Amino acid sequence: MSAEPQAGRCLCGNVRFEIDGPVSAGSICHCGQCRRQGGHVWASAQAPRESFAISGDVQWYAASDTATRGFCPRCGSFLFWHGAGEAEMSFSLGALEEPTGIRVEKHIFCASKGDYFEIGEDGGARKP
Ligand SMILES: [Zn+2]
Repeated sequence: MSAEPQAGRCLCGNVRFEIDGPVSAGSICHCGQCRRQGGHVWASAQAPRESFAISGDVQWYAASDTATRGFCPRCGSFLFWHGAGEAEMSFSLGALEEPTGIRVEKHIFCASKGDYFEIGEDGGARKP
C-alpha cells in the first residue's frame, strides 16, 4: 500500500490522470484479455475510483459483462480496468511518472499466460 499521490498518462498525452488516495501493491495479470489488449502481460495496481482525476478522452470497452477497460482512442494505450460495481479501479503501472514507490507483489491468472515464455521466480521472463 502506498499513500503517495500518483500521476500518469497515455503514450500520446491525450489521457492524463492523477490519483490522490491509497494505492495497492502491484500485480501482473496474465489473463487472455489483458494479454490481447496489452500485447503481453498487464502490470497494474488499484485505488479507490473516487480518488482518480482523469482528463482527456477515454474509450471504455466492455470486454465482458463484469468489467470495462479504458484506453486512449488516439494512441491505444491501455490504462484502466474497472470491475462492475467495484469501489476500486485498476490502472496501468507502465503509465505512471516515476518514481512510483509501488512494487509488484504477485502474478495473477498465471494459468492463462502466453505459451511463449515462463514466469521467472524474480517476476520477470526467464530465458529457456
Ligand atoms: Zn493517447
